[in-house]
Amino acid sequence: MKKLFSRSISVLLALIMVFSMASTSVSATEKTAAEVVKELDKNIPIVFIHGLGDQPIYKGISTETEEDDVDIWSFPADKIVGLVFKNLPEVIFSIAFGKYERLDVVFTDILGTIFGNVACDENGVPSPDTGLKYNKEITPTDEYGKRNDYYFAYNWRLDMHTISTQLDAFVDEVLKVTGAEEVGLVSFSMGGAVMMTYLYEYYYIAPEKRDRIHSAVFISGGMNGVECCEDPFSGHIEFTTKSLLRMVSDLLPKDGSLTVVDDLLRIVYAIKIFEPLVSFANDTLIPNLDEMAGSAVMKTIGTVPAFYALMSSERYYQAEEYLFNTPEKLETYSELLAKNRYYHDNVQANKDNIIDALLADGKNFAVISEYGHKMLPVTSDNDRMSDGMIGTYSTSFGATCADVDGVFAEDYVQAKECVCGKNHISPDRQIDASTCKYADVTWFAKNLKHKDDDKYFADLIDLVTYSEEQITVHTYSDLPQYMINLDETCLVPLTAENAGEIIPFDGKTSIISFLENLLK
Ligand SMILES: [Zn+2]
Repeated sequence: MKKLFSRSISVLLALIMVFSMASTSVSATEKTAAEVVKELDKNIPIVFIHGLGDQPIYKGISTETEEDDVDIWSFPADKIVGLVFKNLPEVIFSIAFGKYERLDVVFTDILGTIFGNVACDENGVPSPDTGLKYNKEITPTDEYGKRNDYYFAYNWRLDMHTISTQLDAFVDEVLKVTGAEEVGLVSFSMGGAVMMTYLYEYYYIAPEKRDRIHSAVFISGGMNGVECCEDPFSGHIEFTTKSLLRMVSDLLPKDGSLTVVDDLLRIVYAIKIFEPLVSFANDTLIPNLDEMAGSAVMKTIGTVPAFYALMSSERYYQAEEYLFNTPEKLETYSELLAKNRYYHDNVQANKDNIIDALLADGKNFAVISEYGHKMLPVTSDNDRMSDGMIGTYSTSFGATCADVDGVFAEDYVQAKECVCGKNHISPDRQIDASTCKYADVTWFAKNLKHKDDDKYFADLIDLVTYSEEQITVHTYSDLPQYMINLDETCLVPLTAENAGEIIPFDGKTSIISFLENLLK
């Protein structure tokens, strides 16, 4: 009897345990991300590291006049149109008579007028007369979080080591003023390369400083290279009719008012009338321009260290060979090259180790990648998926992506088995996150064009930063791996239904559609 009694007690205890576990797991999944984010204790300041060009850079810092009050990284349309018309006769003459060397003047004029002000000296140092005018006071707030972040403004033309040193001083200041002991880091675009450098110098090789970092989030980061920068700098440009026409199509209003024009572009592509022109550009013009473009580049953006940090190391060393192809150039620019190599040989070479150290130390971490847009047509492969600026493969640490206007084949299966055992293929079948280095903490936002905006990511960033346990793409059903921007107000979970139609740029169906639209 006693035995039976004790057995019943054990059964009862086991049942209680099972029920209590079941009820905690039910209550854990019942709460949505939207509910939990309201209850978070946002007690740690977030330091935000912006991207290239986000802060205006002015000239005339030491001798201020009104006309200096213009961002030197701005491209007014009238200026560009003016340049095109001014140089058109020379371009036509040079091409018609095969005098390609005369294009040197044209190139230097165009690049010089657009980018001349941002050039650094041969050591990669900007003129001391150029700089920021940003000066916002650091003050503690009742609640921190992404919407109340501390904006680290920096002169993005500097080399990564110098910017990282300034960031360290900024973090010191934020900690001092707020009385906090640690900060959350969030970066966007080029800020990803800055943040990686900072994590290398003041975290990875400085264990005594590790306690100051609470978390790290990369939004559309440039730490793995930026295709529209690394490809042209290393001589990997291929024009295709498709990518050029598709870019024009992408600029058309999305309200359907110019569908006829869109169809026309597709028909032009299908009947290949531009093909001889594009072949001429690829086969004759580009090879002849190589050397000249190089010299024009070195008078402008080629002296700015930031651009060399926006390359994968493989492409960087190709760019070095391409642009610094004589012993004289290697000598003249040796200081600039030393800065570039420092970043590639130390920071980028250790990026996986840096993040592995963060994870091993239990720091919260997330990657946010954007997709659904065409690349700028100045790369070696313009069919790749991107956010309009950086390839989705790069910003996501290795996602497998369908072509920008395609989907995976019907028999496509997830490339890698993930430790979580769950699906990582997007509902629109354009992305497979299983090949991402950090598949379970990488979120994707469809139809966001290289953007960092509080209204899209603030809640996700706050949940990543302030949750006791690292959250993953499986934690909340209202914050899954794949989200979509439908109305420019917020992100909602992506589904096969709300993903929108993916129409290949092929022209086959466009003739009928074109005639139909014309008759309307
Ligand atoms: Zn997984």
